[in-house]
Amino acid sequence: MSKEGNRYNEYSAYLKNKYGEKVYKLPVNLPGTCPNRDGTVSTGGCIFCDEEGAGFECLPSTMDIPRQLEENKGFFKKRFNSRLFFAYFQAFTNTYCSLDTFRKNILAAAGVADIIGISVSTRPDCIDDAYLDFLKCIKEEKGLDISIELGLQTVNYHTLQKINRGHSLAEYIDAVLRIKKRSIDTVTHLILNLPWDNETDVIECAKVCSVLGVDFVKLHSLYIVKDTLLGQMYRKGEFDLISLDEYINRVILFLEYLDPRIVIQRLVGKGPQGNLDFCNWSASWWKIRRSIEEVMEERDTWQGKKFNYTNGAAIRTISQLE
Ligand code: SF4
Repeated sequence: MSKEGNRYNEYSAYLKNKYGEKVYKLPVNLPGTCPNRDGTVSTGGCIFCDEEGAGFECLPSTMDIPRQLEENKGFFKKRFNSRLFFAYFQAFTNTYCSLDTFRKNILAAAGVADIIGISVSTRPDCIDDAYLDFLKCIKEEKGLDISIELGLQTVNYHTLQKINRGHSLAEYIDAVLRIKKRSIDTVTHLILNLPWDNETDVIECAKVCSVLGVDFVKLHSLYIVKDTLLGQMYRKGEFDLISLDEYINRVILFLEYLDPRIVIQRLVGKGPQGNLDFCNWSASWWKIRRSIEEVMEERDTWQGKKFNYTNGAAIRTISQLE
């Protein structure tokens, strides 16, 4: 990536380059929960999580996997004339089930026509070598592109405690290393405006993703659902949210420190409809994305501009001094 080309490594351009066309993610919704809600790790879940478990765009979880995929496929084919799809196991924690059940779910999706890849959303503490070995086999035997989407949200482990994630930074690093070892792609989800984080945390998020060789990132702005602990805290005035301009600054700062090879799947989340105390400063996600792009243009900056801190940055100048 350079200032002459796109200002950041956009997912749509990556898809076009790799597959020759846009590939759509078809959400799969499974009945399930999460160890951070059912008492295994904690009860109550992350303080921002509502009962939908981030599956608000999905079909009912009672519908079987091939039918969900076929229905969603029909919609995308009709609307966008699309031909290629990823199955996206999106809501809750999709590896929080027995290995046997996990295998059946993945194989059910892999058997649907036009599915060229599978994306599995999970927590860093819910993936292990056995699940990953199975996914590696599927990737090799069926020629599918496999990615694991890990919710991290922030590298600041104090904030991770504050939002009740139930894991720290170490579990995330462990999961990424195990995934990378099997040449499976990783997607990291981050929230850049958590009230307890500052710009230094945002820079560190970019650095950690870069040095671990993460393949994709998805950036979100925090939305506040009414019936959550975060919603209660917000209404009691227990924290302040940064402004939209500050969010735009944080995204740009993040991109500047990020390895230019990492593909950006999202610059801002869409958020669910209704029952919200706060979402995206009441602006549409695509307007925010456009503002970020415009400010990058104005500042003549780009992804990777400050990606200069790896491989012994401090000794780089020594040979020039001697
Ligand atoms: S890990 Fe995901 S599903 Fe579980 S409580 Fe947190 S946000 Fe909700």
